Amino acid sequence: MKEVSKRLAENLAAVRERMAAAAARVGRPANEIKLVAVTKYVEPDVAGALFDAGCLDLGESRPQELWRKAEALAGRGVRWHFIGHLQRNKVQRTLPFVSMLHSVDSTRLLAELDREAARLSRRLPILLEMNISGDDTKHGFQPAEASEAFSIAMQFAHLDVRGLMGMASREGDLEAARDEFQRLRDVRDQLRVSVAEDSQALPELSMGMSGDFEVAIEAGATMVRVGSLLFEGIVS
Ligand SMILES: *Cc1c(COP(=O)(O)O)cnc(C)c1O
Repeated sequence: MKEVSKRLAENLAAVRERMAAAAARVGRPANEIKLVAVTKYVEPDVAGALFDAGCLDLGESRPQELWRKAEALAGRGVRWHFIGHLQRNKVQRTLPFVSMLHSVDSTRLLAELDREAARLSRRLPILLEMNISGDDTKHGFQPAEASEAFSIAMQFAHLDVRGLMGMASREGDLEAARDEFQRLRDVRDQLRVSVAEDSQALPELSMGMSGDFEVAIEAGATMVRVGSLLFEGIVS
């Protein structure tokens, strides 16, 4: 585990350095961007070692994996982010672990989340997942549905709509990714005017993964979700 911890600390430092450089290129302060380490590739002990190395926000995209790792690391103070498709029948078991849900992709899920958050007497921070790729088979609201989804979401007293989340369509095409991230930001800016009537609404933009997080930061990301890059050289 000692070798693993050393490698994790190096990988983490390298990612943070690249994040800071990307932020600097567009004149943004580095501390405005949060790194969410996606731990879906590794076992709980490695996820725990990354937390110990100083990455306090961890993300999972499958409910069962979140439950397993959150239970294994209970009491350590990990802030868990759920970033995958969540079925309504898994809301009750998942919510107690989650500090932010990035991937709200339907109005039926909104209603279920509000009901469960009310039962837990909490206000749940959420992001609305937008399908910015133009691929109908992917999850998320279409940009044309954004106003309606946000209007509905704002009416739920136990949900705190913090922003939008999106994914680029293809890996490796950075210029396409840049356009898609910019589109997500445009959708957010539109919602500020047309629905929230508040220029500070929806502060968070969760976009960018290992292959495109720098482009995402240049386009305005406040949260990047990085997995594989952090675990390079580590077998778990
Ligand atoms: C796996 C995953 C990531 C991280 O992907 P990497 O390319 O490994 O960095 C980010 N977001 C979501 C929704 C994911 O499922």
